[in-house]
Amino acid sequence: MIPYKTEPLADFSNEENRQAYREALKKVQGELGKDYPLVIGGEKIFTEEKITSYNPAKKTEVVGTVSKASQELAEKAMQVADETFKTWSKVDAKVRADILFKVAEITKRRRHEMSAMMTIEAGKPWVEADADTAEAIDFFEYYARQMLSLKDGKPVESRPGEYNKFDYRALGVGVVISPWNFPFAIMAGTTVAAVVTGNTVLLKPASTTPVIAYKFMEILEEAGLPAGVVNYIPGSGAEVGDYLVDHPRTRFVSFTGSRDVGLRINERASVLNEGQIWIKRVIAEMGGKDTILVDKEADLELAAQSIVKSAFGFSGQKCSACSRAVIVEDVYDQVVERVTELTKALTIGDPTDPDNFMATVIDEAAFKKVTSYFEVAKEEGRIVAGGTADDSVGYFVNPTVVVDVAPKDRLMQEEIFGPIVAIAKAKDFDEALEIANNTVYGLTGAIISTNREHIERAREDFFVGNLYINRTCTGAIVGYQPFGGYNMSGTCSKAGGPDFLTLHMQPKTVSETF
Ligand code: GLU
Repeated sequence: MIPYKTEPLADFSNEENRQAYREALKKVQGELGKDYPLVIGGEKIFTEEKITSYNPAKKTEVVGTVSKASQELAEKAMQVADETFKTWSKVDAKVRADILFKVAEITKRRRHEMSAMMTIEAGKPWVEADADTAEAIDFFEYYARQMLSLKDGKPVESRPGEYNKFDYRALGVGVVISPWNFPFAIMAGTTVAAVVTGNTVLLKPASTTPVIAYKFMEILEEAGLPAGVVNYIPGSGAEVGDYLVDHPRTRFVSFTGSRDVGLRINERASVLNEGQIWIKRVIAEMGGKDTILVDKEADLELAAQSIVKSAFGFSGQKCSACSRAVIVEDVYDQVVERVTELTKALTIGDPTDPDNFMATVIDEAAFKKVTSYFEVAKEEGRIVAGGTADDSVGYFVNPTVVVDVAPKDRLMQEEIFGPIVAIAKAKDFDEALEIANNTVYGLTGAIISTNREHIERAREDFFVGNLYINRTCTGAIVGYQPFGGYNMSGTCSKAGGPDFLTLHMQPKTVSETF
C-alpha cells in the first residue's frame, strides 16, 4: 500500500489550473436553482418544504433548494440506518476501506467542481475552497488506512491454554451534524470516520451549505457505498436535530459547530430515553478564541503575516482562526503597524475572482452578529483597519483590526466568527501566556518567538489542543496535525489523528480456553 501523504494544493499561478477552475465555476453556475431530494435508504425523496441555499456573495442568488426532512422522515431514516447497521457492520473492514479509497479517487476527478460549489455556496475564495476539498481527500485516504491498521485489533498477551483477542466493533447508528465553514472536509470527514468503522449514519448538513453535501452523496453512491449506510436528511435543528439526538436508537452523535449547540447536544444526549440501552457517545468539536502570542525576541514580519493570514483567511470563519493577538510591549507598536498595513492591503470581493483574498461572511445572521461587534470595538479599543461592511450585494465585512483591548474585554473573550482580530499588550512573556490562557476555550494557538526557553514553556503551558510554533494557527493537515481542542472547544477528539476512529467503535475482549 502506498503510504499516506497529504493531497497537494492546486497551484493557481498555473494558467491551466485557473482555466480548469473557471470551467468548474461555469459548470456549477449552470446548476443554480436545482432542486435536491433527501436520500433515505438510497431512495430519493422530494418534500414540499424546502431549505433554500443562497450565495452569500450575491445574496438573492439561489444556489439550490433541498428537501427538508420532517420528524416522520427522520424516523424513517433512523429505521433504515438501524436495519442497515446489521449488514454494514459485518462487511469486512477491508471492503469498507476500499470504498473510501474509491471515494477519494472520484473526489480527485471532481476536485474543482466540489471546490467551485463551495465558492458559490459558502463564499469560499479559490484557495480556501481548494484546501477544503484537499482536506476531504486526506480524510478519505487517511481514515481508510487507519481502519486497515485497526481491523485486527491490538495485541494482548495469552497464557498457555488460552487464546486472547482484543479488537474493535462498530457502535450503531451515528447522527452526524456538520458545519458550514468546512462544508465538504468536516462534513465528509466526520461521515466517513463513522462509516469506515462499520456504523451507519444520519447526515444532517448545515442548512446554509446543503448542496455540497448532496454532491458528496452522489460520490458515495458512485463509489458503491450500499444504500442506507449514509442517509441525507437536511432539516431544522429544533425539529430534526433534537429528535435524532434524543432518539433511543441513536448510539452516538458526531457534531461540529458552536459551543451553545454542542452543549445542548451533550445535555440532551445524556438523558436516558424509553427503550434506550446504552450511554450515548458525543464527539464534539466546538468553538475557539485562538491567540497568536508574539514574543519580544521574534521574527516580527513572520508575526504580522501569521496574524493576518490566521485572522482573515475565509473571513475568520474557522474555529482555529486567530481572533486575538497578544504582543509583548517591546515590539507591540511595530507589529501592530505592520498588521494594519498588511490588513489594509488585502483584496476583498466576489470569491469567484481569484484575485480576492477574502469574500463574505456566511449569511445575514452572521453579518448582523459580526458587525454588531464594531460598536463593542469602539468602546473597548481602537479600530485601526476595517470597521466597515456592506451587505448591499452580499455579506461583505472588511477585515478589522482592533488594538489596545484589555485581556478580559468581550472582544478578547467572545467567539465572533468573523474577520475581526483583537490585539492586547502584555508586559512580558509570562503575562502574555497568562492572557493567552484566560479563555474558556482551548483550541489552537501560536507562539512567534526565537527564545528557546519561552518556546518550551509554551509547549507545556499554552493550554490548547493545537499549538503552533512560528507559524499560523490555522490550517491543520490530516494525519500531520490532528485537530481538536480542550475545555469549551470540545471533547478533546482529534479529527485526522490516529485515535479518532476508535471513538466510533467499542473494543471487545474474547478469551478462549483450550
Ligand atoms: N481544521 C481547520 C484548521 O486547522 C479548522 C476547522 C474548523 O474551523 O472547524 O484551520
